[in-house]
Amino acid sequence: MGVAGAALDTTAILVTGLAGLLAGAGSMAMGEWLSVQSSRELYQRQISIEAAELAEAPDEEREELALIYQAKGLSQDQAEQLADQIISDEATALDTLAREELGIDPEELGGSAWEAAGASFILFALGAIVPVIPFFALSGLTAVAVSLLLSGVALFVVGAGITVLTGRSVLYSGTRQVVIGLAAAALTYGVGTLIGVSIAG
Ligand SMILES: [Zn+2]
Repeated sequence: MGVAGAALDTTAILVTGLAGLLAGAGSMAMGEWLSVQSSRELYQRQISIEAAELAEAPDEEREELALIYQAKGLSQDQAEQLADQIISDEATALDTLAREELGIDPEELGGSAWEAAGASFILFALGAIVPVIPFFALSGLTAVAVSLLLSGVALFVVGAGITVLTGRSVLYSGTRQVVIGLAAAALTYGVGTLIGVSIAG
């Protein structure tokens, strides 16, 4: 839309559209890989510090756990008994401390950074190809209009699809997605128009 706003020809729109698609999908994938990898490393480090504390000072960890359970509403006796039981088993102790003290679910550390990166790349590319498709066959304002229409439909389908998970109204969620998506397109088109005008003279 930015390039269409700058009134460049269809070939330029196609080239920049596809370049933007690849660049966007690539940077999303790399960002995703880094994000999954760094948070896993951070969590692993926190868990290994906790494991060291547990090995060196199990009494302190038992007391920390007992305080956490008291804060959740157990009586002091119940909390200490529960903490005793949990600390006595090494694997359960570390798993519980990770969840209760660090707020980390150790089972979520197993996800593959490469899978996350691949999924990001494919999903970004799938979304980004939709507004570009019309420019393969059409040109000018017709292409822009068909591109907007196709994008609007795709945005609505995505917004509506998300309701399977969120349980919100299909109409509300679909419309919200369309409004925000088209607002972003309008913004980009406006920026393109400004830049196009200033470059043209
Ligand atoms: Zn601790």
